[in-house]
Amino acid sequence: MIRVTIWNEYEHERNIPGIMAVYPEGIHGALKKNLDPEEDMIVRCSTLDDPEQGLSEEILADTDVLIWWSHARQDDVTDKTVERVIRHVHSGMGLIALHSAHFSRVFRRLMGTPCTLSWKHGDREKLFCVEPSHPIAKGIPACIELEDEELYGEPFSIPKPDDVVFMGWFEGGAVFRSGCTFTRGYGRIFYFQPGHEENRVYDHPDIRRIIVNSIRWAAPSVRLAAPPDNVELG
Ligand code: ZN
Repeated sequence: MIRVTIWNEYEHERNIPGIMAVYPEGIHGALKKNLDPEEDMIVRCSTLDDPEQGLSEEILADTDVLIWWSHARQDDVTDKTVERVIRHVHSGMGLIALHSAHFSRVFRRLMGTPCTLSWKHGDREKLFCVEPSHPIAKGIPACIELEDEELYGEPFSIPKPDDVVFMGWFEGGAVFRSGCTFTRGYGRIFYFQPGHEENRVYDHPDIRRIIVNSIRWAAPSVRLAAPPDNVELG
């Protein structure tokens, strides 16, 4: 079984009436509902205001793949939490960073670059699958049309990805590396751009399938009990 933890800062859905209406159960709740039918996954949720920011050593040690959604409270995630999550990624935990998680402290630290991009509120996206042989693209059509999505555009200041699986085209005049994979230590990382909080895109069947595929891809084949360390020989 793949142990999945969906972590959400859970801010907009509690404080902005328009977003509450879109995700009454929280973005984490919506993602969980979509993953629960998968028989090879055990799914739990945690949020920023939970004890130890919802990312305690116990939870992370019991997580194969961590899904991350954050936007308004990126800077509230403490150094201690960031260090803990990164240590687990290096030890083999998978990480799926969704939408504005590109600017989370964890993702930026793992990338080692500013992770800035250009953006515009309210647009239409065509999401092209540009690496159809990748496991994350299994069963995904060549192009997914998203009527309402926030424009994210290049330049996206990330290091060169291992693979670019999806490219986004936006009517407002932008293209974006919307689905990128990375490896850090033993951990597999997938960044996936769709998921602006004003539109319930995570219920789209193809978006749901991409997230399911990415969890299976990111699930570790090797998970170290302790982080890598220097070893003195002799
Ligand atoms: Zn957004």
